[in-house]
Amino acid sequence: MCRHVGYLGPRVGLDELLLRPAHSLLEQSWAPNDMRGGGTVNVDGFGVGWYQPATPVPKRYRAAGPMWADDNLPDVAESVAAGAVVGAVRSASRSTPVVHTACAPFTAGPWLFSHNGRVPGWPHSLVDLVDKLDSTELAELEAPVDSALVWALLRHRLTEGSPPADAVRDTLVDVVTAVPDARMNLLLTDGNTLIATTWTHSLSVCRTAEAVLVASEPFELPPAVSGEAHAGAEQPPWESVPDGCLVVADRVTTSRTALFETPEPES
Ligand code: GLN
Repeated sequence: MCRHVGYLGPRVGLDELLLRPAHSLLEQSWAPNDMRGGGTVNVDGFGVGWYQPATPVPKRYRAAGPMWADDNLPDVAESVAAGAVVGAVRSASRSTPVVHTACAPFTAGPWLFSHNGRVPGWPHSLVDLVDKLDSTELAELEAPVDSALVWALLRHRLTEGSPPADAVRDTLVDVVTAVPDARMNLLLTDGNTLIATTWTHSLSVCRTAEAVLVASEPFELPPAVSGEAHAGAEQPPWESVPDGCLVVADRVTTSRTALFETPEPES
């Protein structure tokens, strides 16, 4: 179900990061390795968001349809280099439209957001949570898709002033409490910190001397990111993140905590 990538590090071409590597996000659109919970390919659209130097509001390019079929993407990706990027390829949840507005990353102000997963029975299964949104927040829903609604719930918490990692965790807890079989790998960034969760989908983290990446599936790092002088040299290792984790990473540090407290064993 969908694949996403978050990157913080030295400026790198979007084509070098997302299109050219072995098992790139582009390759994951037609040959993903670790799809869970239905879906075999990610051909229902894609999106890329990135930050320009000294500009807090990200830029974005999204399109409906398979990533490989977009004639404009190679030129756009070759023309843009960025030090903070989110990319996503989409496998649409059942009965949702294949439109570019349903594709991650979603954005507002400084944020880019992606959801890898689905919320069965939405919006009815989330009615108690939707009740907390005001009419403007509902009107701003970009597309009739579960991920856009999850983004509205998370934005609500961010707007209320929750620290971003708390907002991500609390949104996930709200949703999975209401819908226990929801799949909720979330990814949020402001261009300085990546916040990601694992909730029934795959995620790996890779840190180099100057960069950090989170991705649904590991891929070969471009030399500009791995720090290696030539392609094919030893790659920094990807580490698989166990289920039920919150990952917070900036360009220097990574932390990983459990999303739910483990109850103390009874004595
Ligand atoms: N639920 C989202 C959508 O339909 C994401 C789907 C996914 O992770 N496969 O776009």
